[in-house]
Amino acid sequence: MVAPTATVILDRDGVINADTVECVRSVSAWQPLPGSLEALAQLRRAGWQVVVATNQSGVARGLLSRRELASIHEHMCGEVNAAGGAIGAIASCTHGPEECCGCRKPAPGLIHQLESRLGRSLQDAPFVGDAERDLQAARAAGCRPVLVRTGKGRRTEKVADLSGVTVYDDLRAFVRCLLGETSA
Ligand SMILES: [Mg+2]
Ligand SMILES: [Zn+2]
Repeated sequence: MVAPTATVILDRDGVINADTVECVRSVSAWQPLPGSLEALAQLRRAGWQVVVATNQSGVARGLLSRRELASIHEHMCGEVNAAGGAIGAIASCTHGPEECCGCRKPAPGLIHQLESRLGRSLQDAPFVGDAERDLQAARAAGCRPVLVRTGKGRRTEKVADLSGVTVYDDLRAFVRCLLGETSA
């Protein structure tokens, strides 16, 4: 069992749920990736806290409202809870790329928002994403960048700077390794 404050930061689309062509615009379009809900349950059982940092520029682009985004997150947390997991906090950037907001990944602002909400540092926490901007945000905030091959991950693996990055097939494989490591 790890310390109760050990935290894993996850990107949402392409890590927990399937990425879609445009963006996830409705509760029914939110579809968990195979094994992701079970992986979140395993993390909870092992004493890890899970938080989410997600770019949702679809809001700025008018593809969904903040209210719809909140409903999707409520649904996601419900599905995660039903499977035995828990999401402790979600930080979303709803700005467009041209707004230079400081929270849109690759900027580290969402991680800093999570740190203020939790009241502690997320330095060295694993940050699991499928896009290069997730890896960049993780580095900028002093987190451990982790890439999964789901979502955009296979393409990212070919083109991104992978220095200091560990790569797994999916969230399930990452969690298996994380829990194996920590119990060893
Ligand atoms: Mg993603
Ligand atoms: Zn933002």
